Amino acid sequence: MSRYSSVFKDEIKLDINYVPIQLLHRKLQLKLLNQFFRFTIENPGKMTQRALIMGNIGTGKTVLSQHFGLSILKEAKQRKINLNYIHINCRECKGSLFMILQRTISRFYPNFPRRGYSAEELLQALMQILDDKDAYLILTLDELESLIQNEGSDPLYNLSRIQEDRINSPKRLSLICILRQDEPLEYLDPSTRSTLQRNIIRLPDYSESQLEDILAERVNLAFMDGTVPPQTLSLIAELGDSEQGNARYSIELLWRAGKYADASQFREVTPECVRNAVASVYPVIRRDLIVELSLHEKLFLLGVARYFNQTDSAYVSMGDAEESYALACEEYDQKPRGHTQLWKYVKSLSTTGIIETMVSGVGQRGKTTMISLPRVPASDLEQEISKIMSQKGRYK
Ligand code: ADP
Ligand code: MG
Repeated sequence: MSRYSSVFKDEIKLDINYVPIQLLHRKLQLKLLNQFFRFTIENPGKMTQRALIMGNIGTGKTVLSQHFGLSILKEAKQRKINLNYIHINCRECKGSLFMILQRTISRFYPNFPRRGYSAEELLQALMQILDDKDAYLILTLDELESLIQNEGSDPLYNLSRIQEDRINSPKRLSLICILRQDEPLEYLDPSTRSTLQRNIIRLPDYSESQLEDILAERVNLAFMDGTVPPQTLSLIAELGDSEQGNARYSIELLWRAGKYADASQFREVTPECVRNAVASVYPVIRRDLIVELSLHEKLFLLGVARYFNQTDSAYVSMGDAEESYALACEEYDQKPRGHTQLWKYVKSLSTTGIIETMVSGVGQRGKTTMISLPRVPASDLEQEISKIMSQKGRYK
């Protein structure tokens, strides 16, 4: 064995898909989910439910719903109820209801024919399967913005209607929807929207000390004893806090810092390892972050990136950014949003760290907000957004 051993004891525990046994600081939200879906084990078939989980990137939306899924399945099993929990990421399904249903059905029948059906027929087939198996299903549609962007309000409407049409038979399909922002809700039909809005679970951004708790728990699971000193943990929590309480970013930093420690053959993950990790996470465009932006945030950012690609300046004024955004809207056939809405985008984009803002001429008459793009090369950003836009389709 080499003199230097790894600081990790179980790296898998830092994987984005790992579902921790304990979910810290989300008791209330977990309780709410349980209340909404209690009936699936107490009175299965009597009703159906739709709930909406909302929160910024890395606030634990995905893990909350998966954690809930595991625990409700356990209870259902004890009560001998054939309850299923299926978690589908709409973006991975290219925002297509057809693909979402195909994946769902393949959990029941892995060899279900892939061709020859429409989405509507697949939905009927799914209900038939549930009837045949006397099964109930909680279907989670994660990153729902992708489905709404691609297919508008029809998919959710159809998923709800198919239950309501079954007046005299058991209700079998319930939905958990996961969204980052309110905006896509505007594109839903009023009845679907109001049902979802009645059952919203909002996940607030984590505070620095909450992030520290989450990180400390992961350190215990993933690292050898004594390899991550407290000041390293505090530093990562602080950095995660400045990224809007993003637990995903924090855990990624922790993992990368561990990798640096191993590469340097350190026995401890020092703060310097964290600083190296930050440098390696920042300059690349965090694709996950851009993908999850709303359509108009993407268009605004595209406008800003193009402006910087065409000029040598370090700052763009709000007015020029708006003009550039309007051109991008025209290109993608979208009606530009108003000034007030754009301000909100600028604010939320600057909290993600992609852009930064500065007010020029404070105290003078012509006060203007100036926007800069300090961390990402404009050409890469433009390319990345254009690529994502061409994959994702548009809002209907
Ligand atoms: P979102 O879906 O909101 O972007 P995720 O559910 O993917 O966020 O969470 C990001 C990362 O942080 C995941 O690795 C997840 O396991 C972890 N995480 C989030 N919240 C908690 C928590 N309360 N306790 C433990 N780990 C958490
Ligand atoms: Mg998620």
